[in-house]
Amino acid sequence: MRLRRCTACGAYTLSETHCSVGSANPHPPRYSAEDKYASYRRKARHGG
Ligand SMILES: [Zn+2]
Repeated sequence: MRLRRCTACGAYTLSETHCSVGSANPHPPRYSAEDKYASYRRKARHGG
């Protein structure tokens, strides 16, 4: 069951529309910020 949340009143609903406005997913997907750290290379230095 996928609950949606009304963007107007904030009520959870199963309908795609509520209060004459579109309901949205209460859990928006996170934008992948791992790519920023993916380019981060860890250099292992052999001291000595
Ligand atoms: Zn509503």
